[in-house]
Amino acid sequence: MPEKQWEKIEASVNELVQLTSPVSEALVVINQAGFILAFNGAATRVFDYEAHEVIGKNVNALMPEPYHSAHDSYLQNYVKSRDPKIIGFGREVLAQRKNGEVFPIELAVNDVVVQGELVFVGTIRDLTNREKIRQKISKYVESLVQSNQELNDFAHIASHDLKEPLRGLSNNALFLKEDYGNQLPEDAVKRLNRLIFLCNHMEKLINDLLYFSKLGKQDLSFKPTELGLLVQDLVSTLEAVSSKENIKVHISNNLPSIVCDEVRVREVFRNLIANAIKYNNNIEKFVEVGYNETGEFFVKDNGIGIPQQFYEDIFLIFKRLNDENDAVKGTGVGLTFVKKIIERHGGYIRVESDVGKGTTFYFTLPQNGTNHK
Ligand code: ADP
Repeated sequence: MPEKQWEKIEASVNELVQLTSPVSEALVVINQAGFILAFNGAATRVFDYEAHEVIGKNVNALMPEPYHSAHDSYLQNYVKSRDPKIIGFGREVLAQRKNGEVFPIELAVNDVVVQGELVFVGTIRDLTNREKIRQKISKYVESLVQSNQELNDFAHIASHDLKEPLRGLSNNALFLKEDYGNQLPEDAVKRLNRLIFLCNHMEKLINDLLYFSKLGKQDLSFKPTELGLLVQDLVSTLEAVSSKENIKVHISNNLPSIVCDEVRVREVFRNLIANAIKYNNNIEKFVEVGYNETGEFFVKDNGIGIPQQFYEDIFLIFKRLNDENDAVKGTGVGLTFVKKIIERHGGYIRVESDVGKGTTFYFTLPQNGTNHK
């Protein structure tokens, strides 16, 4: 390029860079031969070169292989064919800092005619941090997948390896009681009974743990379900309801038909209704199952209520608020299953309660969100 023309271009390019210098994105301007004409402040920060160190040098100094060797011919091809493979588009490539460090960038190149001369303006965004964050996230995901796998393995081991010796314990206690019960003092028989009870309880806990781990893994089977019919059918099979006259379950007639996993949703209603009856000291026990204007289902009771400080704890696995004598009534997993099933349907569950007056559980089941009514 003749000296005079070069000076004119250089002046215009510098003016361009001056204008764009405050921008946070790095700008590198090159000519058709690939030599750097301008390098703004952000570019010095990204590449660690001062502008005077790179101006006049081939831009491939900023690139690792294979871009380093291929760039000259790439540029010539573009000048000849004007094939817009990169011009105007942003794409992710690798760049190289002064100290040799290779790092990811997003590069957008635009061609501009300055004083009759074609130049290329490269806009560069350093993606190092984004890449680091991406790597961190993928590491977290990897370790989550692994710990999930370990938990599932644990549940498997718990169910098979722990159940065997547990059964042995329970059977031995039973045999001991049967064969030698009449030779043992009353207190020893009492202790044996306690041992048998605790073994049975532990077996229940292990089964629940295994079921919980399956709940998270197994695919749900979605189909349109008439919730009105489902709840009616469910209530008619609840022994506590059919065998006692003092328990009334009112099912409102606006329960919608939704797309859901029918078996699991039945489990949600069964647990909530059973709890509403179980945790209720009233002579007249009243349960209401309904669907409000805001699209929440609810199960309301006039039972013992739940103190506010336990609103979150009750959903934890094996968490029970009542004393151990109640252990026959449950293992503290019902609400954990309920929450898991609801969340797998994309919904949430919340509780409102008045101690001594009653409790209402509200929840949504928005999976596929469709109400067919
Ligand atoms: P479980 O009934 O086996 O104990 P859940 O997970 O279903 O386990 O419930 C956890 C705890 O939450 C119960 O032990 C009880 O203390 C409390 N709870 C659940 N439902 C109600 C309710 N409707 N009214 C009062 N307390 C409740």
